Amino acid sequence: VTASPATFWCELAWLGPSHGSVSSGVALTLAGDRIASVEEGVEPSELPSDAVRLSGVTMPGLANAHSHAFHRALRGRTQAGTGSFWTWRDEMYRLASVLDPTSYEALARATFAEMALGGITCVGEFHYLHHGPGGQPYDDDAMSGAIVAAADEAGIRLTLVDTCYLHGGIGVAPNEMQLRFSDGSVDEWARRVSALPESAAVRVGAAIHSVRAVDPASMRTIAAWAAHRDAPLHAHVSEQPIENEQCLAAFGCSPVELLAGCGVISERFTAVHATHVNDHDIAVLGSASAGCCLCPTTERDLADGIGPSAALAGVGARLCLGSDSHAVIDLFEETRAVELDERLRSLRRGTHDARSLLSMATANGYSSLGWPDGGRLDVGALADFITVGLDSVRLADINGDEALSALVFVATGADVRHVVVGGDVVVRDHAHVSVDVAAELRSSIRALRA
Ligand SMILES: [Zn+2]
Repeated sequence: VTASPATFWCELAWLGPSHGSVSSGVALTLAGDRIASVEEGVEPSELPSDAVRLSGVTMPGLANAHSHAFHRALRGRTQAGTGSFWTWRDEMYRLASVLDPTSYEALARATFAEMALGGITCVGEFHYLHHGPGGQPYDDDAMSGAIVAAADEAGIRLTLVDTCYLHGGIGVAPNEMQLRFSDGSVDEWARRVSALPESAAVRVGAAIHSVRAVDPASMRTIAAWAAHRDAPLHAHVSEQPIENEQCLAAFGCSPVELLAGCGVISERFTAVHATHVNDHDIAVLGSASAGCCLCPTTERDLADGIGPSAALAGVGARLCLGSDSHAVIDLFEETRAVELDERLRSLRRGTHDARSLLSMATANGYSSLGWPDGGRLDVGALADFITVGLDSVRLADINGDEALSALVFVATGADVRHVVVGGDVVVRDHAHVSVDVAAELRSSIRALRA
């Protein structure tokens, strides 16, 4: 990561959710990790001599609001053949059993750097692999430290969504593998998480793994911790029908109702997946203005189903996006999937327009991760932005008027040419400035398979 000049000139720019079109000749001046000024209609001749010219479309950086970095090592191994979410989970457990702080950091660093190459400037790592074999704590919470170091080295902003995971199922003790995910008690979880340091580029959030893994009394404690810290709070919610059936059998209600009864659902809350939520659940999430993080490429891969994005957005839930299992890391693909999956289900086009889809991928994701001043190119906002080149075979014919819909329906992560995070250039001309991403993915993943 290298220091950057303070002025960037954007040939074209989408400045964020309050803009319905792309502007031309935008000069961004930075002060530290913030945007100090935004001027439209600036000619290149008016620029300071050290200004950096960005050709293509510049836009706010993408937020990946739901990641499990270590799942990246499963790509290509679990997609073939039959099987289900539950057989995939067995594969994931086998992988989790061999990771230690060193191998976890190497894998996460390469994975976060892959994200950066694709224009992801902020990641929410839903972190539950925090203990050693048998549930032993590491000195200095080394697995959490590995994630923080990995994001720093990869140059991307991090919310460490530290996850409480106490039970192997409702009323079931954790199995040998799941012990690595458990702090033993919610009080131990709170003690450990309260000690995690934050910085200008790192926030700490809280997560309830799911209604399977956390009991109602512990949910209340976690919600109170998040409220006290003003921290984001996430949970996996209704990804699979069987979770709803188990919750109904044990508690007589849906997962959303159970979480709501424990004080979990508020504006700071994000329901991850929300694939199999009923009309009442949707109303509860909407009236709280809660976030809902859809992970369409993972939900496809695991045969989870299609989440009710139109209904959720219609009642005021704030949709955002995650690459979750990293079967694919391409936030553009997640973004268009929200609309295209809705078309397949509803037989209707245009439920979500380009501006609202791009807002999900940017400002909504930043807000879900506790960075309300990110995801827009405004004075005072975080200086996190990306430039999508218009020189690839996919986009070579696209002009400014078409750029917004092309970003959603055509662009891929491979079209991202430059990435700036907190004012620092992280990707220049499609290359990460400090990580050989393909080589590090290969070496870190092969080491785990050996
Ligand atoms: Zn997940």
